[in-house]
Amino acid sequence: MFSKILIANRGEIACRIIKTARRMGIKTVAVYAEADAQAQHVKLADEAVFIGPSPASESYLVGQKIIDAAKATGAEAIHPGYGFLSENPDFVEAVEKAGLTFIGPKAHSIRSMGLKDAAKRLMEEAGVPVVPGYHGDNQDAAFLAGQADEIGYPVLIKASAGGGGKGMRRVDKAADFISSLDSCRREAKSAFGDDRVLIEKYVLSPRHIEVQVFGDSHGNIVHLFERDCSLQRRHQKVIEEAPAPGMSEPVRSAMTRAAIKAAEAVNYQGAGTIEFIVDGSGPLRADGFWFMEMNTRLQVEHPVTEAITGFDLVEWQLRVAAGEALPVKQGSIAIHGHAAEARLYAEDPAAGFLPQAGHIDSLEFGLGDGVRIDGGVVSGDQVSPFYDPMIAKVIAHGPGRQDALGRLQEALDNTLVSGLTTNRDFLRALVGNDTFRAGRMDTGLIDRNLERLIEKPEPSEIAIAIAAVIASRIEPSSAHLGFRLWGAADHRIKLLFNGEMIERGLRLQDGVISLHGGNQSLQLADILMGESFEAKAHLGNRSVRVRAKICATEKAGFLDVSILLDGQTFVFTRPDPVAGDAALHSSSNDVLAPMTGVVRMVLVSAGDVVSAGERLAVMEAMKMEHTLTAPRDGEVQDVLCAEGDPVEGGAVLIRLKEEE
Ligand code: ADP
Ligand code: ADP
Ligand code: MG
Repeated sequence: MFSKILIANRGEIACRIIKTARRMGIKTVAVYAEADAQAQHVKLADEAVFIGPSPASESYLVGQKIIDAAKATGAEAIHPGYGFLSENPDFVEAVEKAGLTFIGPKAHSIRSMGLKDAAKRLMEEAGVPVVPGYHGDNQDAAFLAGQADEIGYPVLIKASAGGGGKGMRRVDKAADFISSLDSCRREAKSAFGDDRVLIEKYVLSPRHIEVQVFGDSHGNIVHLFERDCSLQRRHQKVIEEAPAPGMSEPVRSAMTRAAIKAAEAVNYQGAGTIEFIVDGSGPLRADGFWFMEMNTRLQVEHPVTEAITGFDLVEWQLRVAAGEALPVKQGSIAIHGHAAEARLYAEDPAAGFLPQAGHIDSLEFGLGDGVRIDGGVVSGDQVSPFYDPMIAKVIAHGPGRQDALGRLQEALDNTLVSGLTTNRDFLRALVGNDTFRAGRMDTGLIDRNLERLIEKPEPSEIAIAIAAVIASRIEPSSAHLGFRLWGAADHRIKLLFNGEMIERGLRLQDGVISLHGGNQSLQLADILMGESFEAKAHLGNRSVRVRAKICATEKAGFLDVSILLDGQTFVFTRPDPVAGDAALHSSSNDVLAPMTGVVRMVLVSAGDVVSAGERLAVMEAMKMEHTLTAPRDGEVQDVLCAEGDPVEGGAVLIRLKEEE
């Protein structure tokens, strides 16, 4: 076995690999770019090597820097994680040429599966069912349109070199084909430097079911059953589970046999995944699934497979790379219970899943039986605009599907992230969705239910009361007893929630706080405030015990109060008491940066007359573009940013002249 390995990745997956290496007594070397100097993977590793500027293209994607770092530290092998260099066959060859071991498949396996069209041809020859369509070399637009007609609409145009859900267009009718082809090609060219495409029949009511496979250098290949990853947004997985709901033994056996055949066709070694698109319009059928692509690496969602099989797949990767045979035979791999994973992202589902960057004021997970958290950041860390904004994966395992989903729900209910917007509430709503709970989902479920999934509930009077008490800054008199209130005092508290002003009167008497001004009057007694907030609340003739997780952070005179109550998060802001009301109404004169990122284009200058909705500037964060538009008709007074400027979320970028 290796005595030292280098991990050519960052964040959650780098931390995950370090954990297993440490358990196996293997030393680890991290690499890091500028933005990651304080990152968890750097802190956890035994050694760390700086590899350059923050953009991945100048650090994590530069193979030579990584190989140099491995040589300099005496690491014998390189684990690529996922993303970055994990599916780059040239990198694999360079690693081997340098006398090091690549912890993953051979370059030829990656190459054969790297382009979707070539992979599909290969699979066809191997007798694996592939989605009907055209995956040949002719790229003439009129020819491709003819192929689409023959396949029958709807069709899916896919970038041959695509990945990560990019470079894909569904086309419903012939009239739209050419314009979709053009835009798909443009996206493919800029994302992958390759504008070749293939055309596939769009499978209706599609489910995404994939099979985990594993090969070694002794000719053994096994599967570790399937995962269902049908809950997707923009063709990207959001929640994954294993086994697949509604899977029958005959279908499973057909699917896993096809997966093994696929892996055998490329002499596969290491961890890999065969992705199938499945007809989900009725019960699963042995003739109702088709090969989509093979991911020649460890997958983000591998923990659900680990949960149900009891094996550590990173350990297997290390053993196989070191030349050992797979630790078990197919017959000893069995399914125990059910597992599900949710990807917790710094993103705003209500704003088209716009990635968020910024400071994590507080990060607290709901832990419970069968719950595992794979994370890459902790309270106080930064989510950088340069990389994938994933905060953590929440994985739950239980005896049956409902147990696992119940545990996942509870873990999410008790997870509080303060400081930036996340998809936590969205994930909760999704796990609670009836169709999903019944196992009747397809890849369109999120889009169809989007409005309901991103609904933001109004805060209850109790949530407002807790925020008001925290914002009032009433001092605890004895640290030992927690939060104790003495004497009488009156406070008026103003809080902003979702841009709306809430005002309440607080009266403190004999340790009881009465709240006035809402549609219900309310008292809080027996208040204890520490890590969490506890009290007895009296509402009319009702009395309830209240327990909430809280986080209060002061920012430039404002106080942000996050409250996690009954599974729901509410974020209130107490405006700067000195600045007065004017500062509150983020005036409609100002155009703010919606997230931390880089200004890509400034389209106006001072003195320009603009109309409501007109494009003013374009920002980029985490590989996504965001256009800033004029909030109203008016004249540009100031442009406070320039192209290329890094800006913080909330910064004023453009100011309009005060209206007369
Ligand atoms: P999975 O099925 O494992 O989610 P994806 O293809 O969506 O597979 O990508 C896996 C991970 O790799 C994602 O979390 C994403 O951040 C990262 N990734 C995908 N494409 C790229 C890329 N071109 N550059 C860097 N990272 C990428
Ligand atoms: P990527 O490399 O971006 O992961 P995939 O080929 O794996 O691309 O497809 C990503 C997702 O797009 C799938 O998980 C599925 O939801 C959807 N998809 C792909 N092919 C089809 C198809 N032929 N019919 C319906 N949906 C599809
Ligand atoms: Mg895929």
